[in-house]
Amino acid sequence: MDEMRSKLFYEQKNGYDLIGTEERIAVEEYSRGYMEYLNISRTEREAVNNAIAIAMDRGFSEYRPGMALKPGMKIFSNNRGKALMLAVIGKKPLSEGAVIAGAHVDAPRLDLKQVTMYESDEMCYFKTHYYGGIKKYQWVTIPLELHGVVALKSGEVVEVSIGRDPEEPKFVITDLLPHLAQDQMKKTMAEGFTGEGLNILIGSTPYADEGKDRVKLAVMSMLYDMYGITEEDFLSAELTAVPAFDVCEIGLDRSLIGGYGHDDRVCAFAELKAIFDVNQPEKTCVCILADKEETGSDGVTGMQSAAFDCFMEDLCAAQGVELRRCYENSFCLSADVSNAYDPLYPEVSEKRSDSKINYGMGICKFTGSRGKAGTSDASAELVAYLRRIFADNGVVWQMAELGKVDQGGGGTIAKYMANRNIDTIDAGVPVLSMHAPFEVVAKFDCYMTYKGVLAAYQAK
Ligand code: MN
Ligand code: MN
Repeated sequence: MDEMRSKLFYEQKNGYDLIGTEERIAVEEYSRGYMEYLNISRTEREAVNNAIAIAMDRGFSEYRPGMALKPGMKIFSNNRGKALMLAVIGKKPLSEGAVIAGAHVDAPRLDLKQVTMYESDEMCYFKTHYYGGIKKYQWVTIPLELHGVVALKSGEVVEVSIGRDPEEPKFVITDLLPHLAQDQMKKTMAEGFTGEGLNILIGSTPYADEGKDRVKLAVMSMLYDMYGITEEDFLSAELTAVPAFDVCEIGLDRSLIGGYGHDDRVCAFAELKAIFDVNQPEKTCVCILADKEETGSDGVTGMQSAAFDCFMEDLCAAQGVELRRCYENSFCLSADVSNAYDPLYPEVSEKRSDSKINYGMGICKFTGSRGKAGTSDASAELVAYLRRIFADNGVVWQMAELGKVDQGGGGTIAKYMANRNIDTIDAGVPVLSMHAPFEVVAKFDCYMTYKGVLAAYQAK
């Protein structure tokens, strides 16, 4: 019976039962690199800038249209500082297709409004408009830091970063004390905090003179001294408040990583590391760091933008290949996080199909909700292809479905790639507390996602 069982049943194993000491060391080493990257990549702009810095260090150079492309060449194209495409040119022509991995580097956050600053009862605040899907109650009474750019009328762009350095001040949204919260506590979690209520406290000292808005004047004069900006300059700014937690190890065994923005910088880093490690690939490897996934992948820097098509068309043109030929023969891993099964909330999951912590890279055949609406649904043949290359390369992986049927749902960039006539499948790292200011992933799953992307890049 045992023999029959092991031959006929699909049985999953905890990843730590499947690797030896050598690979455990590799898991730790990989995780250290990721933690460093995540700690300094708090916005999509920073994630892109930091990726470019490492890429240039690893021999990548900026692509210019018309450039001759030889096999082995490593190039990148920076889309407005907020999205990035990298490629390693393969030995085979692009008419045989490319291997594409696409992750996003935007994450839920609190964007400052354009008319953002106000004073109320001698306290100064920023008004915000949240970005992406958040549970609002999670964003109050936590330290926040401020990142982004202020574009001046002159064309000059001023970079702002306050709070990442331990010496720098932080910001916060206050909440009511329990003693006076009896009415508030009767509200539902959805009603308890409103978007217009997420106002960030930024100062309390009045300007030493008489008149109105003295605290606001004092704060504004500080910003003027630091960055040379006036209140009107906020109109053309992209400033955002993000959680001020450092990335850290979680658990006595240090097996997990806690931090802000794992979704989806954890997959972005896996792709980056994989494309850096790729050596003389057969097919051209492409790595995408996309923006705007959390708001639907629209806009010039989102995955629906023609920026990607332009880049690929340029590469194809250099080889005299038609873009549509390239697309129809290409393969794309839409590298995005999945929900990890959480033993604290079993009621929303169907245990057999949800991804689990420490069980490896999560493969998501379909996304969507209400009968798979809005999914691109990868074909059985494509899943079989992945089974094959993962088995050949020691990649530990699992199936990942987003919760119980009709419990909810979600999407990724997969359908926008598939709509281009590119065979696409979702794959990525399982996350606990996804979209919270402090998310948790397992080191093992991070490492296996890197191995999975590398296996796809290096497939013959
Ligand atoms: Mn995501
Ligand atoms: Mn997300």
